[in-house]
Amino acid sequence: MVEKMLPFKKNDTVKITIDAMSSEGMGIGRYEGVAIFVPLTAIGDEIEAKIVKLQKNFAYGIIEKMLSPSSDRIETDCPYFKQCGGCVYRHISSDSENKIKEERVKDCITRIGGFKDIEFEGIVGGSRYSYRNKAQIPLGLDSNGKLLMGYYAKHSHRIIDNKKCLLHPDIFTSITDIFRDWFEEFGDSVYDEQTHKGVLRHLYLREGFKTNEILFCLVINGDKVKNLDKLAGMLKMNIPEIKSMVLNINKDKTNVILGKKNRIIFGKEHIKDILCDRTFNISPLSFYQVNRDQAEKLYKKAGEYASLKENETLLDLYCGAGTIGLSLINDTNKLIGVEIIPDAIENAKKNALENGIENAEFICGDASDAARILSDRGEKPDVIIVDPPRKGLDENLIMTIGEMSPERVVYVSCDPATLGRDLKIFANHGYNPIKASAFDLFPGTSHVESIVLLTRE
Ligand code: SAH
Repeated sequence: MVEKMLPFKKNDTVKITIDAMSSEGMGIGRYEGVAIFVPLTAIGDEIEAKIVKLQKNFAYGIIEKMLSPSSDRIETDCPYFKQCGGCVYRHISSDSENKIKEERVKDCITRIGGFKDIEFEGIVGGSRYSYRNKAQIPLGLDSNGKLLMGYYAKHSHRIIDNKKCLLHPDIFTSITDIFRDWFEEFGDSVYDEQTHKGVLRHLYLREGFKTNEILFCLVINGDKVKNLDKLAGMLKMNIPEIKSMVLNINKDKTNVILGKKNRIIFGKEHIKDILCDRTFNISPLSFYQVNRDQAEKLYKKAGEYASLKENETLLDLYCGAGTIGLSLINDTNKLIGVEIIPDAIENAKKNALENGIENAEFICGDASDAARILSDRGEKPDVIIVDPPRKGLDENLIMTIGEMSPERVVYVSCDPATLGRDLKIFANHGYNPIKASAFDLFPGTSHVESIVLLTRE
């Protein structure tokens, strides 16, 4: 049935030119008007594509033969690139990647949002190397019982064993080497998603790039780990930067990486980093931008868009450990931060205190509920910053923001598609986007961050 509507069958080979990129970083070419998504291609590639999967009105293909490669192409620098699901853009230049991401953000604002007149300030690109201050590495076993450590293959939970990820700082590679050594000599059982048996699930590392403090966290299905003292000893001896070793307990049958309970093995509950000249404590369960250098640039832009004046009040919704709000306010301002993760709120309160900031209040709860309560108690923030997860905002929250009638709203987004959708809803509640820019916080991958200034009509 399905196949009849398409001008090709499974396993056919068709000649196409790649002329666009999907949000997931797959090249798109057309054959008799039908889109074919082909991984590992670049805009401008002329290929023979083999059709591998048919959908209702499009198809997936793979490169059967390269007829003429795009000028965007470069030699891949990572031996794992073709298999690993982490990066999608290590075969094209950074300039080409920036262009694709910039177009994507623009397209979502103009096409999904419907805003053509907004001033788009371009994209701030970043380095593809060693930028991640956080790694959550799945653990598994191959058929010979050897440890697999690395990110999943695209669209699967097959671990691609990776000895050195180019997105990680070198010190993470040293730590994973030590972990492999420990595992071989003393290791405990490895978690199996199918049977829900085995202990070691994920290795979670985080580094404060300015302080060099490192968190080493082992996510486990159970309460203890065999020979953990040996691992702690090896880590202490070789990597003195590890200031915190933690077991995270996750006994649930779930794809969510972290459980709710942490047990400290040695050191502190949190590590510190410095961002925008302020010091931040970050707990294992708290969100912290993975690309510190690019986050600093993004926050600077957030400050410019917010343009807080003397005595103004800032409401920072989805505030994490309080980083954006605490970086932006001065003594005359008032800050209210809202965040759903209790540990992050604890961090935010401590972060205010340690930076000598007294004019900040932090509320733990859902952003929509908290905004409603704040609105009901008569709060009238001058500026509201929202920085939601990928699913974006719910309409109730946008309505409540409208009721609080701030002068400016700054929307920081990690998914341009939900941003576009939400901008349209904001317009129904009296707020129009004026300016936008994109920041690549995730070079090499398909993700991109963007920021929009909205003002009241
Ligand atoms: N602004 C922060 C955090 C942004 S990430 C920073 O730049 O570091 C998004 C944050 O929203 C996360 O901390 C997440 O825990 C929080 N969050 C997710 N759902 C939420 C909800 N319904 N209400 C409030 N916060 C939420």
